[in-house]
Amino acid sequence: MSETHARPPEPEDRSELFVEFANADWSTAAELGSWLVAREIGPRRHSGASLERRLTAFSELRDLVRSIAARTDVGESPTRRQVAALNRVLRDGVHYHQLRERRGDASFVMTPVGDPLDQARAAVAGSLAHFLTDHDPTRLRSCASETCRWLFVDRSPGRRRRWCDMRVCGNRTKVRRHRERARDAAGSTA
Ligand SMILES: [Zn+2]
Repeated sequence: MSETHARPPEPEDRSELFVEFANADWSTAAELGSWLVAREIGPRRHSGASLERRLTAFSELRDLVRSIAARTDVGESPTRRQVAALNRVLRDGVHYHQLRERRGDASFVMTPVGDPLDQARAAVAGSLAHFLTDHDPTRLRSCASETCRWLFVDRSPGRRRRWCDMRVCGNRTKVRRHRERARDAAGSTA
């Protein structure tokens, strides 16, 4: 998404999985699979075909997270439609366990029922749902840098944080503004 950072800033709270998810740089099924494995969500291995089938659904979830952040960024709550969409993802992740007799001996195993990738998607959606219930939603922001737009959670006391990372986006913007001001000043005295 951006050439300004090598990597997204580390989230301050591991529970903000949805922020990592929205900022992660994946576009193919293989990249998504690596991200899920690295984040230890769902099974350790995913078949290429099942990931390919779910790629659109994951992309839609990322769009949903970003569109919700676009609202909270300007102090608005998520719309009803956005909440309904988030609830659908949560519902898709419904799973349960069943007792099964092992073949050949008298022992039993518990086996999960449900699609592990749908559960992974619901885990991401769940982290956003928990964030919205536990925090002021307007703390979810997107970086003010036009070349960045990464999401972050504003934990500053004054709630005026504008950049995902002050050292990267904040400084760059400051330098640019400084140059613009210097140029304007030079122009007005000429
Ligand atoms: Zn940024």
